[in-house]
Amino acid sequence: MDIGRILKGCTCHRLWYTHFMKAYPIPNEKTSLYEYTKEELRSWLLAHDDKAAHAEAIYEGLYRLRVRSTDEIPGIPLRLKEKLAPFLLPRPAIATRRVSKDGTIKYLFRFLDGQAVEGVLLHYEHGHILCVSTQKGCRMGCDFCASSRLPYAGNLSADEIVGQLLAVEEKENVSIRNLVYMGIGEPLDNADEVKRSLQIFTDQHGPGIGARHISVSTCGVVPGILRMAEENWPCRLAVSLHHVDDQKRSQSMPVNRKWNLSALMQACKTYTEKTGTIILFEYALIPGVNDRPADATRLIALVKDIPCRINLIGLNPLQQGGPGTDEEAATRFRAQLQQAGLFASKRKALGQDIDGACGQLRGQFIQEETK
Ligand code: SAH
Repeated sequence: MDIGRILKGCTCHRLWYTHFMKAYPIPNEKTSLYEYTKEELRSWLLAHDDKAAHAEAIYEGLYRLRVRSTDEIPGIPLRLKEKLAPFLLPRPAIATRRVSKDGTIKYLFRFLDGQAVEGVLLHYEHGHILCVSTQKGCRMGCDFCASSRLPYAGNLSADEIVGQLLAVEEKENVSIRNLVYMGIGEPLDNADEVKRSLQIFTDQHGPGIGARHISVSTCGVVPGILRMAEENWPCRLAVSLHHVDDQKRSQSMPVNRKWNLSALMQACKTYTEKTGTIILFEYALIPGVNDRPADATRLIALVKDIPCRINLIGLNPLQQGGPGTDEEAATRFRAQLQQAGLFASKRKALGQDIDGACGQLRGQFIQEETK
């Protein structure tokens, strides 16, 4: 029996969830089988007098065949199926789905606890990119970001992060090979679960997404960046830079008051040295604030020792009439970076007609819920 499926279709799922959680024993305090990395599953099997090697068949059943109940997993003995029966295979429900004129699809995922987060599916020539959320809200307080204006309701667990991919792949009947951790939340404020979700996504018996095809974006949580380097997380690193002077950055992004630009750049340098990979710096151009030639000069000096790419993005105004991008200044800015030998790209703003900015859909959802 697949309790997850029953719960998903049920309007009073929280009540049912409590009921079933009481009725079924909780294996090792973890209830969702999607919550386990393959290594953890191997340990669980050993602790339950079974062969660790079955972890591979379980993973293939979950992520390749996409079984909806543990007893559908092929290649494992019946006694193991019985042991796995108490586990749930929950997936977030897609509460809202909006398709943009440019094909971008924005989702509002709803979890069993009633909380909701956003995801975005972008289409490129080479396939799809899914943008996933990592927290139910965000504590970082960046002044341009819609997520910061909403209540924070905690971390997403690894299975809730992984579940966003499973739900979208099922809904759209696509295979997603590229991921960005750029939805709601600060991934490095939820480092343990984010790391575990990366281990699941990249597992060769699981979804098998290439580490080079996953980017984790941070606003600049320095200890997290150093941890990523130390532990060699299977992903690339993106850093939301946006400002090149400490005063402006601290005002707009409170994280800079704790780890300033010098600390951030030092951590980025360490990261590139340890991992041998480049960093993607995201820079949202704000007319008259950070898009002047002098800002480009400072940016060039700031990243001069760091192998990197700069991604220039337009600021997505939170309200109508907010500052848009000055295209001429953006082109000039990019040319200046390129002349200095930097690799700079300009990202097309996608999905603006469906409230593309991170947190906007969740904001509407919370407003409707509290009406
Ligand atoms: N907390 C992480 C990831 C989530 S935000 C981070 O800060 O990187 C994902 C990206 O969207 C970040 O680069 C963030 O700075 C950017 N962003 C947020 N609000 C935006 C807006 N209104 N316009 C343009 N980019 C925005």
